[in-house]
Amino acid sequence: MGNMTNSQLVAKASQLFPGGVNSPVRAMGSVGLEPMFVDRAQGPYIYDTSGKQLIDFIASWGAMILGHAHPKVVEQVSKQAAKGFSYGISCPLEVELGQKVQTFFPHLECMRFVNSGTEATMSTIRLARAATGRDHILKFVGCYHGHADALLVQAGSGLLTHSSPSSSGVDPDVAKKTLLADYNDIDSVKAHFNQSGEKIAAIIVEPIAGNMNMVLPEKNFLETLREICDRWGSLLIFDEVMTGFRVHSGGAQAIYGVKPDLTALGKVIGGGLPAACYGGDRKWMEHVSPLGKMYQAGTLSGNPIAMAAGCATLNEVKHIDYQLLENNIEQFLDSWKSMANENDLPFSYCVKGGMFGFAHLETYPTNFNEVKNTSSELFKAFYQSALEQGLYFAPSLYEAGFVSIQHSEAIFAQALDKIKIAYAKMNQMQSA
Ligand SMILES: *Cc1c(COP(=O)(O)O)cnc(C)c1O
Repeated sequence: MGNMTNSQLVAKASQLFPGGVNSPVRAMGSVGLEPMFVDRAQGPYIYDTSGKQLIDFIASWGAMILGHAHPKVVEQVSKQAAKGFSYGISCPLEVELGQKVQTFFPHLECMRFVNSGTEATMSTIRLARAATGRDHILKFVGCYHGHADALLVQAGSGLLTHSSPSSSGVDPDVAKKTLLADYNDIDSVKAHFNQSGEKIAAIIVEPIAGNMNMVLPEKNFLETLREICDRWGSLLIFDEVMTGFRVHSGGAQAIYGVKPDLTALGKVIGGGLPAACYGGDRKWMEHVSPLGKMYQAGTLSGNPIAMAAGCATLNEVKHIDYQLLENNIEQFLDSWKSMANENDLPFSYCVKGGMFGFAHLETYPTNFNEVKNTSSELFKAFYQSALEQGLYFAPSLYEAGFVSIQHSEAIFAQALDKIKIAYAKMNQMQSA
C-alpha cells in the first residue's frame, strides 16, 4: 500500500467502500475533488501519500486539540498497548478518565463511556424517554447529533408539519416523533411546546452549533431553552461532542453558564481514539442499566487504550489557554478578511476557543437558512486553490474549522501567505 499513488488508492477504495470512503464528508465530492489519503500527521500538519505537507484546519473534526501525535499521548498509548488492547472488563483508567471529565464538567455526577459521539447522543435520547415516559424529542435544523434514526430528520414544508427522514432507511414513524425548530429562534420552540409540550421528552441542542459551519447561540437562547424545559418537565440535552474541551475546557456550558440535564461528549475526550461519554444528574443516570431499566452496553466501551489517550489528553487540556487560542484565531481571521476584501470578496467569521467558522458572506449566519446563502461555487474555487497551496480545510461549507495548540503564530503566518496566493490564483483562473 505504501507506494500506491492517491489515484490508485482511490480506485481500489472505490471498489471496497461506498464512494471510496468510510465516512461521507471524506469523499470531498462537494468541492469537486477525489478523496484524499493521509499517510501521517504531526503537530499542526498532515501529510498526504506523496509526502505533501498540509496545515491541518480540521484536526480530526476537532479531536486533536493537542495537535497530531503529541508525545505525551503517544507515550501513554504505547505504554497501555503493551499491557493489552481490550479486556472487556473494567480497568482503572476508566475511573481516572471519569474523574478528570468531572473536574471539567462538574454537572456529570454520573456518566457512561461509549465508543462514538453517535452512541452517546443516541443514548441520551433513550435515557430522556426512559426517564420522562414521553416519546417526542425536539432538535434544531442544521444541528448534527450523529446518525441514530431519531436524529436523522429534516424539516417538512413548514416547521410545524410532520418531520421527515433526512436519510433513506429511517422509519418515517420514528422521524415524526422528532420535532424540528430553528436555531436561535425561540418562537419556533415555543410553538412546538404549546402544541405538544407534555409529549416532549427532551430538547437536544449543540450549545454552539458546529455542523452548519459554526453558529453561536444568540443572547438568552440557551437560558430560554432551560426555562422551557423546566416549565414542561422535559430534559435539556447538550450535545457537546464537538464543543467539549474545544471551545473551553468545560465546554459551551461553562461559557454560557447554563446547566443541561444530560451532556454528550466525544472527539477530544478520546484524544483521537474512539471514546465518547454521556452523563448528567445522578437521578437521571440511575435509569441506566444495570441500575435501571434503560439498556445500553458496549464490548469496547471504556477500552483501556482509548482511556489512556483520553487521560493523557485531558492532562494537557488543563494547561490550554483557550482565550489565547481564540485571540490567535481571531487575528488570523481578521487578516484573512482583509485579504478577501482586497480581492473584492465578502468575508465574515466566528470564533470560540479553538473552533472557528468563515464564510464569503457580508454578514455571518445565525441559522441554517443563512448558512445556505453561501455560494458553493465560490467555496469550491477557494477550497481547491487553498488545498493546492497546502491548506487543509473541511471539504464542505457546512463544517467548522479547528486548530490545535501546535498552531503557533508562525503557522498562522504561513497559512496567511498561502491564502494570499490562493486568492491570487483564483483571480487568474477567473480572468483566464
Ligand atoms: C461528531 C459529532 C457527533 C457524532 O460523533 P461520532 O463520533 O462521529 O459518532 C455528534 N454530535 C456532534 C455535535 C458532533 O459534532
